[in-house]
Amino acid sequence: MDVLAREYLPFPQSLPEFQRFFPDDAACAAYLEKARWNGGFVCPKCSVVGEPFRFEARPGVLRCRACRKDISLMAGTVMERSHTPLSTWFWAAYLMASQTPGMSAVQFQRQLGLSRYETAFGILHKLRAGMVRPERDKIGGKPQEHVEVDETWVGGRTRGEGRGVHHKILVSCAVEVRRRQPGTKLDNRKDGRYAGRVRLAVVPDRSANSLGSFVENAVAPRSLIVTDDWSGYAGLRKRGFDHHPIAECGDPEIAEEFLPIIHLVFANLKTWINGIHHGVSAKHLQAYLNEFTFRFNRRFYPFNAFRSLLGIAGGAAAPTFDGLYSGEWIHPTFSGCG
Ligand SMILES: [Zn+2]
Repeated sequence: MDVLAREYLPFPQSLPEFQRFFPDDAACAAYLEKARWNGGFVCPKCSVVGEPFRFEARPGVLRCRACRKDISLMAGTVMERSHTPLSTWFWAAYLMASQTPGMSAVQFQRQLGLSRYETAFGILHKLRAGMVRPERDKIGGKPQEHVEVDETWVGGRTRGEGRGVHHKILVSCAVEVRRRQPGTKLDNRKDGRYAGRVRLAVVPDRSANSLGSFVENAVAPRSLIVTDDWSGYAGLRKRGFDHHPIAECGDPEIAEEFLPIIHLVFANLKTWINGIHHGVSAKHLQAYLNEFTFRFNRRFYPFNAFRSLLGIAGGAAAPTFDGLYSGEWIHPTFSGCG
C-alpha cells in the first residue's frame, strides 16, 4: 500500500506495516515532500510552483526547474546535514514514537544495524531534541475532569547501605483523569476512567512549598485536584485550586479507589526506568521524565510523535484512527504538545 495514497498519512501499526510504508529512502523522501508541500512543490529559493527534478541516486534532494537550485528535504528537520540514510532515521523515529519503550543507544545500534555506536547515540540525541518542552502547557482546566497529584521515590537501593531511601529521587506527578463515554467498548475498565496528559518533575522535598510550586507550574488554576491527605497539599486551595484530599491513603484499597490513575503512571514509569536504563542519576532524571511524558502524552497519537521527533514542519498533523475512535483527537497547539 502506498502511504501517500491515503487520505490521512497513517501511522504504521506494526513493523511489517512500517516496512511496507517506508521500504527505502525514496519512500521516506516522498513522505517528507508530502509533509512539506502537500499541495505541490513550491521552490523556497525562487517561489516558482511546479514539479521539480528528482534524482534516483539522491532521493533527499529536489532541483527546481526554474532556478536550478537544489533543495534538501532534510533542511529544517533534525536530519539536516546528516549522512545517515533517511530510512534509518525513519526507523529510529518509529521505534522511539511507538509503544516500544525507550531504548539505550546500544540497543538502538543493534536494532538499526549501525556499525558505529556514535551514530546511534547521535540519532537518539537528535530525536530527543524533537521532544520539545513537554512541560510547556498546563494540564487540567476542564470542568468535567479532575487531576490526580501524588509524589513517589524513583531510583534504586544501593547494596551495603541498609534499608531505606538511598540515592532515591523524589518525583512529583500530576495526571488528568478522563472518562470514557458510556457504551464504548472500554468503559467498564476502571469505571471508565483513564489517564489524559501527565506532568512529571523532580522536586527537592515533600514540603508544602515544593509540592505546591510543582502543582502551580503543572496544573491550570481552578482545576479540581485529588490528593492524599499529606500536609504538603493542604495549601492548594489558597493557591487557587479546588482541592479534594482523600483521608487514609495509606490503605492501598482506598488509594486504588480514589487515586487509581496516578498509581498506574508511577508503575509504568518505574518499570521503564528500572528495566531500560538500570536506574538513572539525579542529574539526568528530569530528561528521562521528559521522554516518558512525551511518549505517554502521545500514546493515542504516535503519528504526531513520529513527526515531532523528526522535526517535520508544515502540513497539518492528522488524527489517527484510534484518536478519532476514542474521541481523543485534539487539535494540536502551536507547540505541537498533546
Ligand atoms: Zn527555484
